[in-house]
Amino acid sequence: MDELWFDPTEILIGGAWQRTRATIDVEDPSTGDIFTQIARGQEHEIDTAVAAARASLDSDWGRMTATERGRILTRIGQLVETRIEELAALEARDVGKPLTQARNDAVALARYMEFYGGAADKVMGETIPYLDGYTVYTLREPHGVTAHIVPWNYPMQIIGRSVGAALAMGNACVLKPAEEACLTALAFARLAEEAGLPKGALNVVTGLGEEAGAALSAHPDVDHISFTGSVPVGGLVQAAAAGNVVPVTLELGGKSPQLVFDDADLDAALPFLVGACIQNAGQTCSASSRVLVQRGVYDQVVSRMGAAYDALQVGTAQADLNVGPLISARQKEIVEGYLAKGAELRIAGRGQYSDIPDGGHYVAPTLFADVPPDHPLARDEIFGPVQVVIPFDTEDEAIKIANATDFGLVASIWTADGARQMRLAKRLRAGQVFINNYGAGGGVELPFGGVGKSGHGREKGFEALYGFSQLKTVAAKHG
Ligand code: NAD
Repeated sequence: MDELWFDPTEILIGGAWQRTRATIDVEDPSTGDIFTQIARGQEHEIDTAVAAARASLDSDWGRMTATERGRILTRIGQLVETRIEELAALEARDVGKPLTQARNDAVALARYMEFYGGAADKVMGETIPYLDGYTVYTLREPHGVTAHIVPWNYPMQIIGRSVGAALAMGNACVLKPAEEACLTALAFARLAEEAGLPKGALNVVTGLGEEAGAALSAHPDVDHISFTGSVPVGGLVQAAAAGNVVPVTLELGGKSPQLVFDDADLDAALPFLVGACIQNAGQTCSASSRVLVQRGVYDQVVSRMGAAYDALQVGTAQADLNVGPLISARQKEIVEGYLAKGAELRIAGRGQYSDIPDGGHYVAPTLFADVPPDHPLARDEIFGPVQVVIPFDTEDEAIKIANATDFGLVASIWTADGARQMRLAKRLRAGQVFINNYGAGGGVELPFGGVGKSGHGREKGFEALYGFSQLKTVAAKHG
């Protein structure tokens, strides 16, 4: 494969690239072809990776100042910037993501390194006024060894936000990317090495979730786990973390709503109403798979969204159209199962295939209208290009429908009424609320995470630095 400038069957442990006994085939979702292999790391590789991470804390990495750590992260970001096109091509091939979207992920990875590089030496403790004769202050210290279990849908962005923040705080990381999409994680590790990251600070073990992932989440010498993925696996990881009494950040799924009121600027809203769902073929945790529309503009919104769907083109990642393939045959089967569940519903718009290879995992993006709020299509995370439109009459009804799923990741409000914006931002059950936009460009500065089954803990922004550190209170009695 032209895009590969490294051996993907090697994993990184303690600064040494090494092979494993077995490998896993890597499929191109655009064609169904197997184009390379990755290493299948197992429990003993996880053991050595955790030990290497631990050792680095007592070595060069652990001795670095925050400023030195920040400089290395900044250098990694600069190297990522020089490789944007290669990284985008890799991700497009591995995930099936249209090239433009893959390029955005690579740019975001560079930006995460820049942000956390700059932030590394700006995390401070405080002094606390206390009893006479005492001086009390707090220190922000790394957890130690942090585990990072990452899904396949946005590998570069999730590695950037989680590994970037953990390294900034001085943790030593063991990264387990998803078996479906490991290539940019391996490329990132090569660039981190080139930037001078000391050995053992970042270890990457590719492998299966039930093998390498399970071994990492249950490892007794891991001090913190950052997991991004599905709700069921998140539950397993939290249970494993409980066994070792270590903190865990869970970034799980979503069923994020957009609320469109009669007074909304529809021209501004329309690209977001559709784009927020079909990006990455709907395989986005924060995808807006539900659009709730007030009755006065309902018909107009459905008809305009439907027309936008009819114009969507589906093709290979390299063709770089609106929508690429899904990650796997299994994911396609799940999404088609939901389309079958919607057989009785009104289809308001559907995208078109453009030159799709037989073996690829394509599903035409589909918009359903007049969907009852308790229908599975309106409640379940489908993780495909399927969106529902639901009518409502009053603000209270909109809130009731919006908050009626198990999830609470993201929500948006489209209205010109400032008082309503403020009211609803408080009443919506979500970790992020957007007013007259969706996603705010995905800024790395913005704390992100969910409530309910969307998980707990926050990543991104400065907040992540608190999550990847622990507070020590020092009370000195000096009379
Ligand atoms: P997944 O849960 O199947 O896999 C995620 C990771 O967990 C992979 O690295 C996998 O190998 C690993 N894993 C699997 N079984 C494991 C086990 N028993 N123990 C430990 N690790 C294990 O999720 P996925 O299918 O890769 O990703 C899709 C899900 O991720 C969706 O639900 C999506 O909403 C969610 N997601 C959430 C966010 C967020 O920030 N909230 C971002 C992206 C994706």
